Amino acid sequence: MTFDLASILRPHILNLVPYSSARDEYTGKEGVFLDANENPYQSVNGQQWNRYPDPYQWAIKEKLAPIKRVRPSQIFLGNGSDEPIDLLVRATCTPREDNILIMPPTYGMYQVSADINDVPIVKVPLTPDFQIDTEKVLAAVTPNTKIIWICSPNNPSGNLVKREAILTILTNFSGLVVVDEAYIDFAELPESSEPPESLELSGGLTASFTNELDNYPNLIVLQTFSKAWGLASLRLGMCFASEEIIKVLNKIKPPYNLSGATQAILLEALDFVEAKNQLVKDILVERQRLAQELVVIPTVKHIYPSDANFLLVKFEKAKQLFDDLIEQKIIVRDRSKVTLCEDCLRITVGTSEENNVLLEALKKLSEQ
Ligand SMILES: *Cc1c(COP(=O)(O)O)cnc(C)c1O
Repeated sequence: MTFDLASILRPHILNLVPYSSARDEYTGKEGVFLDANENPYQSVNGQQWNRYPDPYQWAIKEKLAPIKRVRPSQIFLGNGSDEPIDLLVRATCTPREDNILIMPPTYGMYQVSADINDVPIVKVPLTPDFQIDTEKVLAAVTPNTKIIWICSPNNPSGNLVKREAILTILTNFSGLVVVDEAYIDFAELPESSEPPESLELSGGLTASFTNELDNYPNLIVLQTFSKAWGLASLRLGMCFASEEIIKVLNKIKPPYNLSGATQAILLEALDFVEAKNQLVKDILVERQRLAQELVVIPTVKHIYPSDANFLLVKFEKAKQLFDDLIEQKIIVRDRSKVTLCEDCLRITVGTSEENNVLLEALKKLSEQ
């Protein structure tokens, strides 16, 4: 199926003239800068945050591109993944007219973003093993469906979605296909039973769809610095797509969407890819241990396979258990009311000490 970005965009976005910031008009580093009404001296705290930051974060993109094996022009950076999620809906969907398609159970922001923008949602549930029913998805698409959201590894189920199914949708749908890979660093070897200790980490590159960007002009991949990289507080989301799509996002984003402080910290953090991989390894080892110890607890009914940094676990009377844990100030995520997740809690893999606290509490509660 042919993809025509112009027909996917809302007409007024296609023709939009974006805000031109002072830093757009002159991109040199040296000069007497009297163009942006900044304070010329310094910040009140004696630091140097008085100049507006690079609106396109080029230094970061140059450094990130080889890590992700994409070109700098294929990268958009947002204030969390929330920002590209919202921008994509606003760029493509005319309220009350166009729709997006999601596959529950999945990440809540796709629906919230559509709801905020008054955009209808088509829902096609995943299969009971949390895979895509491609026939049902393609049958549910309407001429007004602009985006299909795929979360892989999926939140809250934790599993990678089969590559073939995603490729089928990319090939047979003429709108945008967003693959949200927030947890991709934890998904090293699909369907592998190797112990995490011996994993060769590729930083998620083997499982990621970023390597399909040049094959599918309708593909968008989301990733984040909030999970494996441990930078959730900075609010940093990545979006990878064709240069054409990235240009649209740049046109409609707030001009200085990433602060100078955020950019400075991220630029330095990108030197620590090895440290990120080690953190991932430690979490994978703990994930395996946590699963092994959960299995023998009598109230645990099922542990779903995980390619992420959390486990979806089916319990006897999950809601009651959730409340009992809260009472002990142990906070997990109650997913028991979510499609296909009846009696399930989502448990983030913590430090080994934190996991021990949880395991002890669960053992005690199961003896009552
Ligand atoms: C955690 C998560 C994100 C990351 O969101 P940020 O806004 O970048 O912190 C994105 N997608 C999914 C599915 C997530 O679970």
